[in-house]
Amino acid sequence: MVVSDYRIQGATGEWEVVIGLEVHAQVTSAAKLFSGASTAFGAEPNTQVSLVDAAMPGMLPVPNRECVRQAVRTGMALEAKINPWSRFDRKNYFYADLPQGYQISQLYHPIVGEGQIEILLDDKDEGSAKTVGIERIHIEQDAGKLMHDQHPSFSYVDLNRSGVALMEIVSKPDMRSPEEAGAYVRKLRSILRYVGSCDGNMEQGSMRADVNVSVRKPGDAFGTRTETKNVNSVRFIMAVIEHEANRQVDVLESGGEIVQETRLWDPDRSETRSLRSKEDAHDYRYFPDPDLLPLVLDDAFLTDCRDSLPELPDAKRRRYERELGLSAYNAAVLTAEVETARWFERLLAATGKSGAEIGRAASNWVISDLFGALNRLGRTITDSPVSPEQGAELLRLVADGTLSGTLSKQVFEIMLETGQDPAAIVEERGLKQTSDTGAIEKVIAGVMAANADKVAEYRAGKDKLFGFFVGQTMKAMAGKGNPAVVNELLRKALG
Ligand code: ADP
Ligand code: MG
Repeated sequence: MVVSDYRIQGATGEWEVVIGLEVHAQVTSAAKLFSGASTAFGAEPNTQVSLVDAAMPGMLPVPNRECVRQAVRTGMALEAKINPWSRFDRKNYFYADLPQGYQISQLYHPIVGEGQIEILLDDKDEGSAKTVGIERIHIEQDAGKLMHDQHPSFSYVDLNRSGVALMEIVSKPDMRSPEEAGAYVRKLRSILRYVGSCDGNMEQGSMRADVNVSVRKPGDAFGTRTETKNVNSVRFIMAVIEHEANRQVDVLESGGEIVQETRLWDPDRSETRSLRSKEDAHDYRYFPDPDLLPLVLDDAFLTDCRDSLPELPDAKRRRYERELGLSAYNAAVLTAEVETARWFERLLAATGKSGAEIGRAASNWVISDLFGALNRLGRTITDSPVSPEQGAELLRLVADGTLSGTLSKQVFEIMLETGQDPAAIVEERGLKQTSDTGAIEKVIAGVMAANADKVAEYRAGKDKLFGFFVGQTMKAMAGKGNPAVVNELLRKALG
């Protein structure tokens, strides 16, 4: 395990930062946790609210099997202990976005226990791996949303989100720098998206984090933590840690004390602000929800959950290195996002080949040519103008010598513009590479005649002029000469 050397320099010496994250991830499911109302994002306010979600008297919650399944699959993907017996508790508090007056959650017996996530600290380098512990995952209901900008003197409430299933994924206090926390959230998001249990869309609020931060002198016991609520981007999470750790060092060094409290992040002023002092479990008068039976998972259900898991990013990354001969960096880039890995695998399948030769050619093309083009066009791989099948055909035309490297780039540009298949482009525009020795020899003779002085210099020992002749020949052939053949014939002709 790598020890992070991130330290804050205070007046009294160095301080270490300790971080634990509670990530709320919205479960991917068509219906809510205890009702049949839709979870689709972006609907008109209060159009996806059942009587259960509005907490009408006498309504009873019915657990959604799919939400339970997603939480269990997520736990399995995090190599966590799955608890075949868990229970729902009521967390009581009063707020206008919570019609029930309590949130159904799991405090005492969560569905998932301890697990772990491996993060890579130094950009994609396996040697920099660090394991961050998972404390637990429980499932709970989301609240509604208050809208303060609809009326000059009233606040409105939208209950569409009320009752949507969340997984709360609680880490151990194992992170030691903003970078580690950022890597952890990105990795967690990647795993959730592979599993398909959360879309990971932070802008839409599908994933948000409560950021727990404390500081200590290296080697001391943990200090008192503060918790900054509802932070909704990786950048903000890192900024909260940076700001909060420095604030705590200032407080402690000027003789003050850190109080355990809940804080808010103000993105406009880039600072955290105190919201309220920390509540304890008893403030919420937790008790088992009398409307719900304990959740008991049988073996068939657990087996089904396990069998439905896809190959996960770490396993995939290692397989790409092993089977496809990819560099650690390329393997990490291609597996970081599930869409990229899927696209890459469709491309490989379409080539009909396997092994290191096609692995390297395909990965280099995707990472430099395709990603470069997508970047330029402001697109993502899911709306790439070129399909994996077209990419495979382009690679085949290079492999069989129809296209040189230069020509393949030209053809690719035309594919991006027109959406045409590469073979059709080659055919239509005559972009085939030529290995016809007779034709190439004729061009070489012309180039040598037009540059008799340079031929003499070359023959007198100025070796580096060779590149000049290659360039002139290729130019005269509009880039279509097979470079290997051109080189060979030039060497012969120049003597
Ligand atoms: P609560 O539900 O009251 O917020 P939890 O026990 O669920 O408390 O822990 C919340 C989070 O705080 C966890 O992610 C944990 O890793 C983190 N944490 C606990 N102690 C510290 C500490 N001293 N410094 C930083 N984070 C901490
Ligand atoms: Mg908490």
